[in-house]
Formats: sequence, C-alpha cells, structure tokens
Amino acid sequence: MHINIIDSGALLSQWTLRNPELLFMTTQSVIDEIQNRPSKSRIQNLLSTDRLRIESPDESAIEMTEQKAREVGDYNVLSPEDLELISLALTQKQLGHEVTVVSSDLAVLNTAVALGLRIMDLRGRMKERITWILKCPGCGNEEPEGASNLECPVCGTNMKRKPKRKAKI
Ligand SMILES: [Zn+2]
Repeated sequence: MHINIIDSGALLSQWTLRNPELLFMTTQSVIDEIQNRPSKSRIQNLLSTDRLRIESPDESAIEMTEQKAREVGDYNVLSPEDLELISLALTQKQLGHEVTVVSSDLAVLNTAVALGLRIMDLRGRMKERITWILKCPGCGNEEPEGASNLECPVCGTNMKRKPKRKAKI
C-alpha cells in the first residue's frame, strides 16, 4: 500500500482533488489546524470515502525524528505538529508501507529526506538536502543549529542560521 502523508498545506490546497486515485494519511493535530469551510468539507468527503485516514505516530518514531531534526538543524523551525507528521510517516514506513511525505514546508521535507523518506514538494522548491548550523557573523564561530542560546558563546553577537552542507536529492 502506498500512503501519502499530507500536511495542512496539502489539505488546504486542491491537491487531493487532483489526485483522486491516491490514499492519504495525516494526524489529528494537522486536521485541527484546518479552519476554512471548503477544506473541511473536502476532508469530510475524503474521510467518508476512506481515502483519508487519521493516525498517530509511535513514540520511538517521534524520538528518532526529533534526533534527526536536531542533526540536520531543522528542529528549531519545526512545529510540534510538523514533527508529529514526519514521525507518522516514519511509523508507517516501519510498518512496511510505501510512504511519501507531501508538503510545501522545506524544513518538513528536509528532515523527511534525512530520515530516508520519499517526498513530494508541492511548490517544487526542494532541490537539496541541507544541514544547518548557527554561524556568528562577528567572529565566525559555528555552533550546531540545535544550540539553545542564539548568542555567540565566544563574542556575544546574535548568530545566524546558515547551510553547512548541501547535497542534491
Ligand atoms: Zn562570535
């Protein structure tokens, strides 16, 4: 079974309508983000025809996703809902399903790629896998992006998020 794990961007767009043959899955927290009426009625329709399922990720998948997000430097820009959605994709893959993460959020897509998940970028901007770091514009000091303090521990300047490594995907 091939499952498309979709975020709120995919649910708000008409992407699901344009792909009537696909199966979708998301989390309850993503569903709760959707407020506009046309999207809600699309979701109701997908649920009633069993083309959309709502599931939760495993705890172990959440831990693995958080760790990977820290490694690649996306952790601080991912919301709890984002992390839960990526974790759901990992959980489904571990259950033996073919999975694609459908999103237009570059941090979601970047962490998903780093976890070995297949992705579909709704806006087509995702070209490279990026490892982020914090770099001090004052003294050049580098810290892992997950660092709690955004001030440079060497000179006190506010650090900036910069790509450390890029790899074609
Ligand atoms: Zn510095």
